[in-house]
Amino acid sequence: MKPVIILILVFFAVRLLKKNLQKKAASMGAAEAHKPGGSRIPNKGAEPRGEEMVLDPVCGSYVPESSALSASRDGKTAHFCSTECRDKFLKG
Ligand SMILES: [Zn+2]
Repeated sequence: MKPVIILILVFFAVRLLKKNLQKKAASMGAAEAHKPGGSRIPNKGAEPRGEEMVLDPVCGSYVPESSALSASRDGKTAHFCSTECRDKFLKG
């Protein structure tokens, strides 16, 4: 091999090593920022996925029961997506 080629190879090898070291340092810093126990997902108990959906009889859309508005008329309770729908229902 010619000495020049060896020099070039060494140069690239050093560059690669430096890059790898920088990557390692960066990933280590990231790992420190995201410690396994540090980022806990808040457990609120009730998940919206498991929530019951109620039908809005005015516009026909389904609304999660917890966020739905309810009103009763003629002894029947209905759920609504908005006050607009509820008013429509109450007015008949
Ligand atoms: Zn509605």
